[in-house]
Formats: sequence, structure tokens, C-alpha cells
Amino acid sequence: MICKLCKTYFLDVFSFDRWFDFPDLCPSCKEKFQVSIHFESIPIDNGQIDYYYIYDDLSLNTHEDIYLSRYLDRLYLKILDVEDTYDLFIYYDDLLDHTFYELGPLIKDYRKVFFFSLMRKDLVYKDIFL
Ligand SMILES: [Zn+2]
Repeated sequence: MICKLCKTYFLDVFSFDRWFDFPDLCPSCKEKFQVSIHFESIPIDNGQIDYYYIYDDLSLNTHEDIYLSRYLDRLYLKILDVEDTYDLFIYYDDLLDHTFYELGPLIKDYRKVFFFSLMRKDLVYKDIFL
């Protein structure tokens, strides 16, 4: 099989219970891109931003970013669980990273804001409210 991320050939252990279930990723990529949800809470004026992300210290190329975006479904399920407790949900991608200063007027009226992204962005030192 060919790994969908690093494009190397790999062999997987054959078993009858996985007869039609072919792995997409090699063992090395499975280990490297293991999914875990991280969480940070950032206080803002009269409220807080809760920031959820999946990967912490990785730099992804575009192909990896697109492929691994499928794991955002874990955060979508999290959003469905907590949708009544937050006022605003914002997906934080690279485009938003460049226009972050425009968020201040948008979120200043909300008290509980849910940010989520695939990769960790440094929100603590951003000037949201200029
Ligand atoms: Zn791989």
C-alpha cells in the first residue's frame, strides 16, 4: 500500500476482520499525526475564549493540511455537544491569522467564544481588542 501522506510503500498486517479495510497511512505517519484534542482558555473582557486544536507542534504542507482536515470532525462533534454553552464559534485558519485584527469588533459583544483549528496558532499574544 502507499501512504496517502508521505507516499511511501508499506505493508500492513493482514487479518480477516480487516479484509476490506485498507489503511491510508503508514505506521510512521499514524504515529506522527495521531489525533488528540488540545485546549486553551484565554480570558477576555467579561468573558473567555476557549481554543481547541488538534495538532500542536507540527508544520504541515498544503497536502498534509488538506488530508488531515478530515480530523476536524472530532471538533465538529465537540461543537455539537457544547453548542448551547457558547455564543460564537470561529474556525481559525491561515487566512484568519492574517486578518486577526478584524475580529475584535466582531467578538467584543460575546462572552463565551469557541475557537477551533487544525494546527495550534498563538492566540495569547494577539491583540484582539485594539
Ligand atoms: Zn506515511
